[in-house]
Amino acid sequence: MTVELISVGTELLLGTIVNTNAQFLAEKCALLGLSMYNQTVVGDNEERLKAAVSQAVGRSDIVILTGGLGPTEDDLTKETCAQAFGLRLVEDAHTRKRIEDYFKNGIYKEIPENNWKQAMIPQGAMVLDNDNGTAPGLIMEKGDKRLILLPGPPGEMIPLFTGQVEPYLRKLRPGFLMSRMVKICGVGESQVEDRLLDLIDGQTNPTIATYAKTGEVHVRVTAQASDEPCAEKLIKPVVKEIKKRFGQAVYSVKEEETLEMAVVRLLKKYELTMAAAESCTGGLLSGRIVNVAGASDVFKEGFVTYSNKAKRKHLDVSKSTLKKYGAVSKETAREMAIGGVFATDSDMCVSVTGIAGPDGGTEEKPVGLVYMACCFNDKVTVEKYQFKGNRDKVREQAVVKALDLLRRTILENCQ
Ligand code: ATP
Ligand code: MG
Repeated sequence: MTVELISVGTELLLGTIVNTNAQFLAEKCALLGLSMYNQTVVGDNEERLKAAVSQAVGRSDIVILTGGLGPTEDDLTKETCAQAFGLRLVEDAHTRKRIEDYFKNGIYKEIPENNWKQAMIPQGAMVLDNDNGTAPGLIMEKGDKRLILLPGPPGEMIPLFTGQVEPYLRKLRPGFLMSRMVKICGVGESQVEDRLLDLIDGQTNPTIATYAKTGEVHVRVTAQASDEPCAEKLIKPVVKEIKKRFGQAVYSVKEEETLEMAVVRLLKKYELTMAAAESCTGGLLSGRIVNVAGASDVFKEGFVTYSNKAKRKHLDVSKSTLKKYGAVSKETAREMAIGGVFATDSDMCVSVTGIAGPDGGTEEKPVGLVYMACCFNDKVTVEKYQFKGNRDKVREQAVVKALDLLRRTILENCQ
């Protein structure tokens, strides 16, 4: 079954806004096992929208449109789609009532005249109630072709898609599609593929696909079966095999679990507390930990010790170490981690010090050189990395490696 997207809005063509709706929908459709070969962006222009809809309906089973469902003159998606399927617009009493209720509970005293336009529905269309706005989503069917219309604002589009469109699309496809994500840290993408080559080569059901992220590789395993238990049966041994091959490098098999969530989960599990001592990452590492709900149970303090003076003052790094080896050295990283444990009375502390660039590199210590250390139970592990890329990239990679260093340290000491 094929699907395609039409994103409506002149703002998208001008680059004023990023087409995040297309990214969201493309990913969701792929997960639903629908084949997508085309995506179109079209401005708020009737003729061109008409042409785009007609072309899309001609070549795909399902067309999902976002944007242009609003109350103003330039919002034409519904009118154009109704015309394409030869449907009249009729007033929908249910939607009219919902618009009234929406405004009653909102800040407006009177309902703007324009909004009544949104109560007009193509005859016979399925109405998808929108709890976050006034424009309902719509599904129109004609023969085996389907048009799905969703409002542009992601805060309205995403809940409509997840709550109502996804179940609708699932029903259209025979069988059950299940997928699981194996998240790997510390192994490069080509190496992951190499080690899975025999599985990937022979794949039919389940299928295996790898996705490279900064410092991580995600492996998606997708199975198609008649029902959920059968899909589970197909997926389970493959996920188990991947986990076996990568051992501790697998930090999660949960789609929604990030690396920092996995770290917080482990800290909680073993009732540990932590601190972070950061130089070149300037708080990014602490920020990612604190992003995790419930981090307050395990995260005590984060230091941004950018200058040598700060490293001495807050982390008690010795003057002679800084002088002899420099701020970017394994000795300084080591003392920063130890100092962090003492200063905060935490069970562990991770430290990062490096040269993010673009300036400051030397032949001996080039841009991208980063040392990190983790102190746990009087034991300190120090690691050295040479990252590639610009300042942002170096810092981002350093954070991922430092999170992984924390994770590995916990596993090595507590399991
Ligand atoms: P409204 O009732 O707000 O006018 P609409 O369905 O008519 O909704 P548009 O007018 O096309 O939608 O877009 C409204 C806003 O939604 C845009 O300003 C933008 O913030 C967001 N938006 C629209 N399309 C997209 C998209 N493809 N990706 C991300 N955001 C989008
Ligand atoms: Mg609009």
